Amino acid sequence: MLYLGCHLSSGEGNLAMVQTANAIGANTFAFFTRNPRGSKAKKEDLQDAAAAMSAMAQAQFGPLVAHGAYTMNLCTKDPEARAFAADILFDDLRRMAALPGNYYNFHPGCHVGQGVQTGIDQICEALSRALAQDVPVTVLLETMAGKGSEIGGTFQELRAILDGVGDSRVGICLDTCHVWDGGYDIVHDLDGVLEQFQQVIGLERLKALHLNDSKNPLGSHKDRHETIGNGALGLETFRKIVNHPLLKDKPMILETPNQLPGYAAEIALLRSLEEKS
Ligand code: FE
Ligand code: FE
Ligand code: ZN
Repeated sequence: MLYLGCHLSSGEGNLAMVQTANAIGANTFAFFTRNPRGSKAKKEDLQDAAAAMSAMAQAQFGPLVAHGAYTMNLCTKDPEARAFAADILFDDLRRMAALPGNYYNFHPGCHVGQGVQTGIDQICEALSRALAQDVPVTVLLETMAGKGSEIGGTFQELRAILDGVGDSRVGICLDTCHVWDGGYDIVHDLDGVLEQFQQVIGLERLKALHLNDSKNPLGSHKDRHETIGNGALGLETFRKIVNHPLLKDKPMILETPNQLPGYAAEIALLRSLEEKS
């Protein structure tokens, strides 16, 4: 079963997002747990979350892939800002308890000149504290493009975070634009990249994908998403991904430059690429 979806606005609540997802042919979705460029979270509504959970079960949705705010940098230099980011992660995971069994993905962080190792240590510290709560969700580290001082642009850096936290509730969300921009050639050697993933991280940790084409060449470290089939990855790469035995059962979230009608069209396009055996 292909689980395809996109980012939806959480403004009307969880149940409304499930209904929107249904309307555009999606059977999973992503949403920002708070203002993506700020830190304000919505008021909690447990009844709405429960209604959404039952509507998703009814429509046989795959796991959701919630997304932490872009501004949440767990390894920023200023100790006060860093503590604030750690508190936000803690609170986001607490809130995810209303949506048990789903995923919470975030960008590991930018070390802003502190160095990769210091950054990784700070990420691990914040994540370990947040996970000390008994939360029924899996936390996903997103593969990054390696722009600026971003951590998570290599499988090795992600492995170091997994090792530092040492908790099976941490997995990986593979962003197709980011890994390509990071230098992993999924166009010509998808199997080779997955083999590297297996050797460095372990495929059992791969829980979800972000499907984005890229505006830039391999290894550009840019992170500019393009609509599916119209960038450097091309439609054939996505055909391979949606049919790949190691990938096709994971929730796949579109983060392409689109509005809802564009997402509906991309979801239909991706479903048409699926080879029924
Ligand atoms: Fe992301
Ligand atoms: Fe992404
Ligand atoms: Zn991106």
